[in-house]
Amino acid sequence: MSQSAGQADEPYDVLVVGGGLAGASLAHALLGSGLRIGLVEAVAPGGADQPSYDERTTAISWGSRQLFEDLGLWSAMQREAAPILRLHVSQQGSFGTTRVHCDDYGVPALGYVLPNRALGQALFASLADQPEVEVICPARFETLRTRDDALEITTRDGQATRTLSARLLVGADGGRSAVREALGIGSRVDDYHQKAIVTQLRPGRDHEGQAFERFCPGGPLAVLPSGPDRCAVVWALASDVADRLMAADDETFLAELQAAFGWRLGRLTEPAGRHAYPLLRLLSRHPVAPRAVLVGNAAHNLHPAAAQGFNLTLRDVVLLASLLREGRAAGREAGDAELLRHWADARAADQARVSGFTDGIVRLFSNRLPGVSQARALGLTLLDSLPAIKQGMARRSMGLSMDRANIAQPLPDGQP
Ligand SMILES: Cc1cc2nc3c(=O)[nH]c(=O)nc-3n(C[C@H](O)[C@H](O)[C@H](O)COP(=O)(O)OP(=O)(O)OC[C@H]3O[C@@H](n4cnc5c(N)ncnc54)[C@H](O)[C@@H]3O)c2cc1C
Repeated sequence: MSQSAGQADEPYDVLVVGGGLAGASLAHALLGSGLRIGLVEAVAPGGADQPSYDERTTAISWGSRQLFEDLGLWSAMQREAAPILRLHVSQQGSFGTTRVHCDDYGVPALGYVLPNRALGQALFASLADQPEVEVICPARFETLRTRDDALEITTRDGQATRTLSARLLVGADGGRSAVREALGIGSRVDDYHQKAIVTQLRPGRDHEGQAFERFCPGGPLAVLPSGPDRCAVVWALASDVADRLMAADDETFLAELQAAFGWRLGRLTEPAGRHAYPLLRLLSRHPVAPRAVLVGNAAHNLHPAAAQGFNLTLRDVVLLASLLREGRAAGREAGDAELLRHWADARAADQARVSGFTDGIVRLFSNRLPGVSQARALGLTLLDSLPAIKQGMARRSMGLSMDRANIAQPLPDGQP
């Protein structure tokens, strides 16, 4: 598939670098737009070193399910999706709890838990059947050059290099984005000095579709339904504690997990392999540059505590695709500066809200000052007895306050 370095062919309308959750979702959202799409991905799914479609699970909100339905992707995902019917939020060592049930919001599920490998099948592997998208994989983005009419990039696969050009370049190449760096876009990084340990295990009691978010002194612990008799665990801990537990045997790991989580699901057994992820918040200084945008972790990499990172990204890419479609119908080219600015402006509030909310709960629940723990417990109890506030928070977490109608932001009138 690769060729030697040379002149770029006719530019792609949209060239996406990174075929992970963000980039592959964008490619799907652009299908049928009439735009010529290229997707450059360094590591094919299925490989042990594929960083997006790995052993994690991803909790998607009810709103994201609706967006996947609109993209025609939900039927391919549904079989692997474990519904979240109830959510139980608590704090280790104190009395406060809050509960959310899907019936209270008139939806069949608050969200769904999907294995990332299944998302890789539905999002990336299925692109091979789409003649509108040229998937260039394996190929790694290397360099960027600005031309008057396009951006030009080189990619490498072993010894072979290739030159490609695009009216619009999309950096969807993850938190360490080489595209972001090549564009000269800076970023702000807050290191939480935590790592998330991810694993799967068998609960002693039926989880009945219940998800648990438990705020422990070391960091938040999520136990999510991931199959009839399996739960997915995402446990954020101070980095040194996480390193110790990664090296511990299964018995020690389970004993410490059980002590932190309690006995709500009976005895926790049969842990699968453990994987650790360093946790930080990264926010790019700008989401757009001339003829370029950043999406996904390249633009905003969040702590997984609120399970919002990919849900936020999906809303970003769905609006971007819809504006690019509309722009094409109005005769604007994909790299149109006004279109990109409009997209960035339209997404700024949701991005700031989700990033601020996620960072806020990580810091609030990691604070060990005397009195703060009691205040948090009281807060959780009060929240449970204040349905209006709870409903507002739950609706936002479920992606319902940013539904299909809100994502349909028309382009402002203007001459192409
Ligand atoms: C432990 C954990 C749990 C999480 N759980 C949830 C959750 O439950 N719900 C939720 O909404 N979010 C969750 N998230 C966040 C979610 O995983 C991210 O939002 C998502 O992975 C971002 O996808 P991405 O495609 O932007 O980046 P990545 O997943 O990093 O993918 C980037 C892709 O770009 C490719 N690439 C990189 N460099 C190059 C290059 N130079 N050239 C070509 N290709 C390149 C990579 O191979 C990869 O395929 C979680 C995150 C963590 C760490």
